Amino acid sequence: MIPKGHRLVSPALRKAAAGESCVLCGIQDGTIVLCHLPLNAWGFGSGKALKCPDWLGAHLCHRCHSDVDSEKFRRDAELRGKVLAATLARLFDNGTLQIKGEKHDLDLPF
Ligand SMILES: [Zn+2]
Repeated sequence: MIPKGHRLVSPALRKAAAGESCVLCGIQDGTIVLCHLPLNAWGFGSGKALKCPDWLGAHLCHRCHSDVDSEKFRRDAELRGKVLAATLARLFDNGTLQIKGEKHDLDLPF
């Protein structure tokens, strides 16, 4: 059960998107930001009143970010999972996210 009102805002996670490439299209054009994914079906809110927590965001460029609210993106759970997993893997790989007491040695495909 996901607690109601759970919302994590992390300046570190948001800052980590700067200078990265888009996990969806691969472009590195300086527009990449942490994009909150529409995860209402997973019990997390999205939209102005109930954004999902920052750790459920993806590094997307301006163009792909614009597509996030499209019906296609909202219906494509695999695509949302893919961009979320790619972003989380990147954050572990660059040390932004860590698990206490564990060393990470990822061999990422991107
Ligand atoms: Zn993109």
